[in-house]
Amino acid sequence: MKNNCVVTFSKNVFIPVTNVSRNACDYCVFRARSPDDAYLISMNDFLALAKAKGAATEALFTAGEKPELAKPNLSSYFKKAILDSGHSSLVEYTRELCKLAIKHGLLPHCNLGVLSREELTVLRDLNASMGLMLETTAAELEAHRNSPGKIPAERLKMIAEAGKLEIPFTTGLLVGIGENPQDRIRSLHAIKSLHRKYGHIQEVIIQPFIPKPLTPMWNESPPSFEDMKEVVRAAREILPDEIAIQVPPNLTAPRVLIELGASDLGGISERTIDYINPESPWPKEEELRKAIAPFELRGRLPIYPRYIEKGWYSEELKPLIEKYADEDGLRRKESKSGLVV
Ligand code: SF4
Repeated sequence: MKNNCVVTFSKNVFIPVTNVSRNACDYCVFRARSPDDAYLISMNDFLALAKAKGAATEALFTAGEKPELAKPNLSSYFKKAILDSGHSSLVEYTRELCKLAIKHGLLPHCNLGVLSREELTVLRDLNASMGLMLETTAAELEAHRNSPGKIPAERLKMIAEAGKLEIPFTTGLLVGIGENPQDRIRSLHAIKSLHRKYGHIQEVIIQPFIPKPLTPMWNESPPSFEDMKEVVRAAREILPDEIAIQVPPNLTAPRVLIELGASDLGGISERTIDYINPESPWPKEEELRKAIAPFELRGRLPIYPRYIEKGWYSEELKPLIEKYADEDGLRRKESKSGLVV
């Protein structure tokens, strides 16, 4: 089984399904500002990404939240694009993309923002795991004044629904968006209590806010490294050991945070950029290996070993999970040709 010296990551293909969002978070550079810069990824563009997956075993689908409810000019753009694609909603369209991903050897992980129980149910059997950043339990932050979906209670409700549906789940904190240290502790306790009830949280991301040009928070400072260390330390203390603490290696220095209890580096893509933080390229696998030594870097799947053991996956995903997972539930080692053997 995974031991304390092992740090995991997942080789993925990052697929931004649409950048239309009902929210307008003050730190976001991802969302479309007008129909001119809005998009819905086409099936063909998605297929090109899936076919060029290299050694990736995960398809990470992200999207703006509830694009159907965006401002009128953007929601009109989105609704037309989705109808033109022959579908009726983001969730229905993404389900088709998930089917194609599986066909091309990729295990889907969807993070489409807040979803209802019905929408989670539609996606569940085609996802190895799903995700939603809690970000913070602090309500009424300035950064979220134009983001109805960032009401903490709504996000906690969805995370709970995912637990009731036995969906292995990823959530996390966005550090430095106006919350205070007590808020961070409260957020970690909220995640802990959901996990205690449903047992479905596989990892908690501790992600720093990074100021982006042309956003209202461009002049705000990111959290200090001391703050990041403090949150990782608190997360390790508060959360049960079975929940991995994830730190993104393109946004922070992972080695020190690993010493404080982080044990996962999240998704790393060889072929696609981090569309949420486009200014921060992912390090290469070899660079990471060196940066975290003497900790051992191991590949994992988007579903963590204990959920494979529990059988929290569908028949649709079974062939790929059996093909890719080793006896520890981690990703099989690769041959020199880069193929999973
Ligand atoms: S951060 Fe996410 S929810 Fe907020 S505006 Fe950007 S895409 Fe929408």
